Amino acid sequence: MARSKLRVPVLNPCDPRALLREHGVHPSRALGQNFLADPNTARRIVRLAEVGPGSKVLEIGPGLGALTVALAEAGASVHALELDRHLIPILEAVVSGTPNVTVEQGDALTWDFAELRDENWLCVSNLPYNVATPVVARLLEEAPQMTRMLLMVQREVGERLVASPGSRIYGAVSVKVAYHATSRIVGAVPPTVFVPRPKVESALVLLERRPQPPVDVPSYDRLFALVSSGFAQRRKMLRRALVPALGERTEAVLVAAGIAPTERAEALDLESWAALARSAAE
Ligand code: SAM
Repeated sequence: MARSKLRVPVLNPCDPRALLREHGVHPSRALGQNFLADPNTARRIVRLAEVGPGSKVLEIGPGLGALTVALAEAGASVHALELDRHLIPILEAVVSGTPNVTVEQGDALTWDFAELRDENWLCVSNLPYNVATPVVARLLEEAPQMTRMLLMVQREVGERLVASPGSRIYGAVSVKVAYHATSRIVGAVPPTVFVPRPKVESALVLLERRPQPPVDVPSYDRLFALVSSGFAQRRKMLRRALVPALGERTEAVLVAAGIAPTERAEALDLESWAALARSAAE
């Protein structure tokens, strides 16, 4: 006699297709849902982030839990913040047997990072591609307790985060990263390890928060207002690009900071932007 087929719950977070099918959920492109289907990549990320027993980790966008489980298996306590409420029951089922994981439904673009008490948090996340840059900016500016961040982002975004002056991809966010952290790309991840497969390659970016900013400025907000103004018209010389921020004083402020008015925003390193901010404040 044929045996009746037992229905075993599918809880392997690295089998996204089965999990989604089981729960009748379709990946949302708008939410950047490309789920990791490779446990080795998850473990590699954990290793690169230097997560170990006792680490406190914020994971933004845990999805179906592929990385969450790997982080917890390494001994970390994980706070998993997921926007998509349809994924929450699946994620809760996946991590139900895993200690030290809390799941919260919330939006990383508005969530209050002060909810994470104490110091020395890590953020280890495969970020939703469409909001990666503003999420990184928020982590740098609003989560001072986050000392190390290992973030998977679209390759081009990663290159922009770590870019140096003089390159075409150096932009306002590169200056912001340089102010708060040291940064480097520590790995590449091919589209083949995701379900569904994204059209782009991914990069692993490591950001380590500086104990102190490397430059002195009278006002952080004024510094980044100048940076934004400069890069908003990056093809223009600074003597024109900075007029919205500095008005008639533009040329004099540039000269007083030791910067040629004919330079463009992409030529200025963090120290030059800081010199400009100091000169503008005089
Ligand atoms: N970490 C999972 C993995 O590696 O398989 C999923 C990564 S997927 C690229 C991005 C995840 O971020 C999705 O689960 C998506 O629903 C979630 N997400 C999108 N926007 C978000 C936001 N603003 N705040 C928190 N999570 C978000």
